[in-house]
Amino acid sequence: MSLKHVLGQQHAVNILLNEIQTKTVKHSYIFYGVKGVGKKYTAKEFAKSLLCQNQNGGYSCDTCEDCIKISDNIHPDVVLVDFDFQQQLLQKQQKSVSISIDTIRYIKQFCSLTRYSGAYKIIIIDQAETLQRDAANSLLKLLEEPPQNCIIILITTSLGLLPKTIVSRAELIKFFPLNKDILSQILPFNKISSTILGSVEEHKYIEQIEKIEIDFNSLTEIQSCCERISQDKEFSEYFLVWLTENFLLPKFEILSEWDKILDEVENYIKQFRFNINYQILLETFLLRIALLCNKNIL
Ligand SMILES: [Zn+2]
Repeated sequence: MSLKHVLGQQHAVNILLNEIQTKTVKHSYIFYGVKGVGKKYTAKEFAKSLLCQNQNGGYSCDTCEDCIKISDNIHPDVVLVDFDFQQQLLQKQQKSVSISIDTIRYIKQFCSLTRYSGAYKIIIIDQAETLQRDAANSLLKLLEEPPQNCIIILITTSLGLLPKTIVSRAELIKFFPLNKDILSQILPFNKISSTILGSVEEHKYIEQIEKIEIDFNSLTEIQSCCERISQDKEFSEYFLVWLTENFLLPKFEILSEWDKILDEVENYIKQFRFNINYQILLETFLLRIALLCNKNIL
């Protein structure tokens, strides 16, 4: 696997390859776009390209010690910050659902350590939209005065969920929803899909989602479906994104329409984070989808 194997994100890959080849790699990036389109996977492949001992034209070799260690998540110069990592780092009993200032303090310390392989220290922060306020402020300071040869990649579903001050400090790289052909290439292979889609849990969600049938013409059907799904908040949010990618977006062909829809979906996701009545929110979303698809208006 290398950047060659990232599917459906040629736009993002071309930008990264070009920066490696022209030695214009930035200190900080934000990879943004709906869930499950390969942002985290691309970030790891980018890290490999940057640290690979036999890098060729921006592509990693996948066989050197650095590449293998990054694949196995044990490279001393690369850290992937997610909730699992944080739980282990802070030795908490329970997994948190936001990134705390203690984790950012660790990252600062990590940046100041001597590099093992000589090129860069790379920090990938998954679900950056969950940064607690003091953690975001602390990270901002790091982005304002980036340590030499440190690269920070933030991963998020939406730029609107991050503080503007952070967004303005990074190069923004958009990841587009995957089309059906690419999804069908990914989905039959459990192992690959779990890597590309970010986690095995998300793959489980897809199996769960495939069992759901919704009749958009029946209000009672929509209500009972939402009642079932909304029992699990995380699944509800994933369902909302999945429905957008697989049902709503394919009905529209023009990219500017996609942008409008994605903006609207981002708003729903924001509301999810602050709203405890997921059922009503889901119902509103599904009714909105029904309206958009039948009348084709925004
Ligand atoms: Zn290599």
